[in-house]
Amino acid sequence: MNFKNVTVAGSGVLGSQIAFQTAFKGFNVSVYDINEGAIKSAQERAQKLAETYKHEVARHPSEVDDALARLSFYTDLGEAVKDADLVIEAVPERIDIKTSFYEQLAKVAPEKTIFATNSSTMIPSQFRDATGRPEKFLALHFANEIWKNNTAEIMEHDGTDSKYVTEVIDFARAIGMVPLHILKEQHGYILNSLLIPLLNAAQALYANGIAEPQTIDKTWMIATGSPRGPFAILDVVGLQTAYNIVSADAEKNPIAGKIADILKHDFIDQGKMGVATGEGFYKY
Ligand code: NAD
Repeated sequence: MNFKNVTVAGSGVLGSQIAFQTAFKGFNVSVYDINEGAIKSAQERAQKLAETYKHEVARHPSEVDDALARLSFYTDLGEAVKDADLVIEAVPERIDIKTSFYEQLAKVAPEKTIFATNSSTMIPSQFRDATGRPEKFLALHFANEIWKNNTAEIMEHDGTDSKYVTEVIDFARAIGMVPLHILKEQHGYILNSLLIPLLNAAQALYANGIAEPQTIDKTWMIATGSPRGPFAILDVVGLQTAYNIVSADAEKNPIAGKIADILKHDFIDQGKMGVATGEGFYKY
């Protein structure tokens, strides 16, 4: 892996974290977003991340200043990817936005550039034609708060060249992630394929009146040695996100509808959104 220059497209919650972590580990990072307003927000996010890294990550403040100096910001996609070895796409989770982004990118990126999507719910084969270079395209999926939750799920589609998969795995390691290689496409990768059924099962036990959340959590924690049970995890994820996930199933599955009603009436409508508001299934 001889990457030097990385472009991060989309500089919101995750894009800004990916950009900062990559710069912190010594790569030149070009940040691309759609207009000056978005770039201004990206610069503000970078300053906030710099403070977090000074307190939580860096051994010396100068490491953070060096990371800031390696970041540059663009609203012109051609300029942003001019010498990119890798483009990491973190644009909104909408198929139309991502498809048109890849169509534009395909026109301006150098031939050497590998493309990686950070999409949480979509799979690479949904965009491989739009990229114009399916063999150099795969998913590289990070977790929120990348500097401490340092998983990198790397997922190829059946036309990705294994040479580029290896390079992206090496890159993930070089920026301090633990690379997790997923051999075949799977919506939700490994983490959400495991976590969402667990959270759904826990909520179904509660909605059916089988046990209280605290009892369910205690069972899981004591019997498996986990530091948190499913309801404590739901409080971290946020109950609005939990509600969005179960509501999507509510029409087909009556128990999902029942869970959605409980989350809405007993929690969300009362401002109990989880850790972020100081109360969810637990008080913080
Ligand atoms: P976000 O809404 O915070 O940021 C999206 C950014 O993309 C914004 O800065 C927006 O201006 C920009 N944008 C919009 N249209 C664009 C375009 N055409 N070209 C370039 N940039 C454009 O979103 P986010 O939470 O950072 O999510 C981005 C991606 O990362 C999604 O695919 C999401 O599934 C994934 N992801 C998010 C999380 C998370 O916890 N938020 C975790 C893992 C993966």
